[in-house]
Amino acid sequence: MSASTHIYNVTFPRSGHHLLAKCLRDYWGERFRYCEWYGHCRRSPCSNLKTNWQKNHDFQLSLLRVPERRYVVQYRHPIEGIVSWYLWELKWGIPADRNGLLKTRILRKIPKWPSIARLLNPDSEARWHEVFWLKLDFWKEFVCKWVIDNTYHNAYLLPYDRFTSQGEREVKSVIRFVCPETVVDEVKIEWIVAQHRFSRTKSIGHFRYYDAKLIRQVEDDVREEMALLGIETILKEPST
Ligand SMILES: [Zn+2]
Repeated sequence: MSASTHIYNVTFPRSGHHLLAKCLRDYWGERFRYCEWYGHCRRSPCSNLKTNWQKNHDFQLSLLRVPERRYVVQYRHPIEGIVSWYLWELKWGIPADRNGLLKTRILRKIPKWPSIARLLNPDSEARWHEVFWLKLDFWKEFVCKWVIDNTYHNAYLLPYDRFTSQGEREVKSVIRFVCPETVVDEVKIEWIVAQHRFSRTKSIGHFRYYDAKLIRQVEDDVREEMALLGIETILKEPST
């Protein structure tokens, strides 16, 4: 990975960006220079000129989408992504708003913070519903901006299911997208993928507020978007 490369990894939360970054770090070693934005510079491009991979959730939808830059875009089924995001926020005690992630680094330093947060922000079905609809609005805006309305050919699109089910193929494709001129070391990729957990995270069927009616309502609402995104629906047929 050359020093002049700069990739923007734009990712809906909980869509596999940590797993991808781990694989790329294993592949490129110290040549992979990562900025995770929230705990670093919060600038685009990164304030460190040596950075060549910068993660961004684009919560404010303000990140520039321009033909001169190159992007790896990660996204996921909205309900699966939002369930995972909600559970992550509960675990870390992060308030449920778009900017919640910004506070993570500070809050994690407070001793016993997750247990304090659980008292302050108790989990409840009402809270889940409130959080869900806010995040679904963000999901729609995110996928429209970065995938559906994105007419430039400077982005590698990586839906979560394809990434987790075809790890080797996808890591190889990302490396080729980043460095089209290099010969990919397939043996190394096979080894790297075998070292990491590439299975899908547990099904939302175990989620305490699992609600088939909600899935039906959401999938009917965004079925067209999901087809364009290459995301499989959980329910196979639309309601009549
Ligand atoms: Zn940075």
